[in-house]
Amino acid sequence: MIGCEMPFENIFPYTIGKYAKEHKIPISATIELTPFCNFNCIMCYVRLNPEEASNQGELLSKDKLLKIAREAKEMGTLYLTLTGGEPLSRPDFWDIYEELNKMGFLISILSNGSLIDEIAMEKFNEYGMPYSVKLTLYGASNETYKRVCNSENGFTKIENAVKLLKENQVPLSLTATIVKENADDLREMYKITKNWGVRFYHTISVVKSARGSVNTAETSRFAFDEFAHHLSLEQLEMHKFKHPEFPFSWCSGYGKSFWLTWNGHLQLCAFMNGPYTLVDSGLEKAWKELNEKLEALKNPTECENCKYSEFCQRCPGMLCAESSDAETVSDSVCNTAKTLYLIYQNKLKEEKT
Ligand code: SF4
Ligand code: SF4
Repeated sequence: MIGCEMPFENIFPYTIGKYAKEHKIPISATIELTPFCNFNCIMCYVRLNPEEASNQGELLSKDKLLKIAREAKEMGTLYLTLTGGEPLSRPDFWDIYEELNKMGFLISILSNGSLIDEIAMEKFNEYGMPYSVKLTLYGASNETYKRVCNSENGFTKIENAVKLLKENQVPLSLTATIVKENADDLREMYKITKNWGVRFYHTISVVKSARGSVNTAETSRFAFDEFAHHLSLEQLEMHKFKHPEFPFSWCSGYGKSFWLTWNGHLQLCAFMNGPYTLVDSGLEKAWKELNEKLEALKNPTECENCKYSEFCQRCPGMLCAESSDAETVSDSVCNTAKTLYLIYQNKLKEEKT
């Protein structure tokens, strides 16, 4: 799905995923270590300031996190992604990382890269290198970083992080979210990452802020349909979807992964802030209850006979982020589907005449 936050590193062999889903084993987990970040990106849907965070609950302590991780290990979790906010900005990050590594997880880290410096590499050398790192690239210069992330020398720092991670042969990929404020850098970003020899891809998908933070999604993001006019009929065909009978028919994470928020909500993914369960009475119970709640979700009634459905890339997570409810349609999602449908119909007519 467009905008799906299921971390790239969680793509594991099909057979493992299939087995995990059939047996409801959370083979893959993501833990948000913090809602705080040393950047302040305009399009971020998760970063909070201390006051906003205090309205959303309490940060899970190191001991609670490690207890949950031990339970996850017992339940079969193998792939563990650490994210934030900026995970490395958490003061006890290294204590947590050391313990998680000892538990035997294959740990991936999602980071802005600014804190992966020579000192961090010494720690990784001491505690064990991560299984993979995915860095977010926000632009091709320090000026763009200042504009988009309000960060000084952000580009110089990520350049150094890439160099250090490559020297230590850590599997690395870079991703960018392209908004109006950094779109002029896109060509240069591809050039630079090619020179660095690192896999890079970008998305224009920006969701509204789902969990109490404030972002500029509605003014900064590009509408996918703005590009659709340039697509050929064949390319538009590739954007067709079969109507999902079950809301999670096309979801890569459902039934085999979970996302633990910094304040202890167990949910399916970053965007699915409802339904969620609480881990206070143990992960196994919370996981079971979460899957029961997800299983009970239905497609929005409007979608059942919608003629735009085949061009609609909705999923419960996207609906949740855009309309605050996984079963409620959102104007932005519907308008994109409708525009794609109309462009497709016009191109079809043109071809026939
Ligand atoms: S509901 Fe599934 S497909 Fe949608 S964003 Fe979440 S993980 Fe991705
Ligand atoms: S366009 Fe709107 S009503 Fe139609 S399938 Fe998509 S979300 Fe549902």
